[in-house]
Amino acid sequence: MIHNFNAGPSVLPQSVFKQAANAVLNFNNSGLSILEFGHRTPDFIDVMEEARKLVKELMNLDDNHEVLFLHGGASTQFMQVPMNLLDEKETAAYTDTGVWGAKAIKEASLFGKVDVVCSSKDQNYSYIPKDFAVPNDAKYLHITTNNTIYGTQWQHIPFTSNSMVADMSSDILSRQLPFNKFDLIYAGAQKNLGAAGVNIVVVNKNILGKVKRRIPTMMDYRNHIAEQSILNTPPVFAVYVCLLTLRWLKAEGGVQEMERRNNLKAEMLYSAIDQSKIFKGTAAKDDRSKMNVCFVMDNEEQEKQFLTYTQSLGIVGIKGHRSVGGFRASLYNALESSSVEVLVNAMKHFEENN
Ligand SMILES: *Cc1c(COP(=O)(O)O)cnc(C)c1O
Repeated sequence: MIHNFNAGPSVLPQSVFKQAANAVLNFNNSGLSILEFGHRTPDFIDVMEEARKLVKELMNLDDNHEVLFLHGGASTQFMQVPMNLLDEKETAAYTDTGVWGAKAIKEASLFGKVDVVCSSKDQNYSYIPKDFAVPNDAKYLHITTNNTIYGTQWQHIPFTSNSMVADMSSDILSRQLPFNKFDLIYAGAQKNLGAAGVNIVVVNKNILGKVKRRIPTMMDYRNHIAEQSILNTPPVFAVYVCLLTLRWLKAEGGVQEMERRNNLKAEMLYSAIDQSKIFKGTAAKDDRSKMNVCFVMDNEEQEKQFLTYTQSLGIVGIKGHRSVGGFRASLYNALESSSVEVLVNAMKHFEENN
């Protein structure tokens, strides 16, 4: 039994793997593989339609919010967002809460002015900034809802009168949020939603078409909305895996149930860290992520021993990102709580014997 704590690409439900494997051999009893299936066939158009509808339903989105499946990973959204929303002389407000946010800032500054309204870089991004002001005339405020590398998460979304844009790559559909209060949400699918190769973008169509620049066809959200995410060949297989995961999520009880499970898993692991004398959390307590749990030991030699020990138990993917060190356990929707139990027991056992 493998317990997969990878940060992304990451664990998905076993039932999704089985159905995806079946579709590689024979999609919808067509005798064809999903890998050789035309993207403009009725069967695939149905896949795309159902996937978009399920995102809308699971996030309770109103009719102003459109759901798109696009190429290029979340990193492409770092540029596509300002290209569509920010004119050269305008200012956008950005929060600097990690490497991903910093990359978003760098791209936005290619298109307009960027006001970095807060930063936690001074303490290696181990906390979420609290008191900061956002200028009223900022075109939008950009946040990274969950900082995958550092294990911090906005527990209170800092809504202002500004338009709100969020990178939700590592916590989309993991907790209930007032999604309609965001004007644009994007997420690479490979963390919590499906296979690598596709992004989910949720956009309030009323904010589009306001910039003066000319936008290349593939970069203009309006073209993707008009063609219902089949403007060109979409990543067919990746979209299909998203659909399977979305169906699973709905059948399991939706976002509310995911949040309940994710809270329990995170509580289990954080309380083990808090009770331990040898493991220490790296993120500020109030800002700890329910998705990515980062912890370290004082002694690097001991960290190596713990890693070897956990490998023998089938635990994979807990080595921390190089910029934080130690360990990172990612507890995405599909991770079973029994896997967290195995990790927690391993920590206790290791502590007793060292
Ligand atoms: C992984 C990640 C990204 C980058 O995603 P790609 O799909 O590899 O471009 C961006 N933002 C966050 C918060 C992430 O966790």
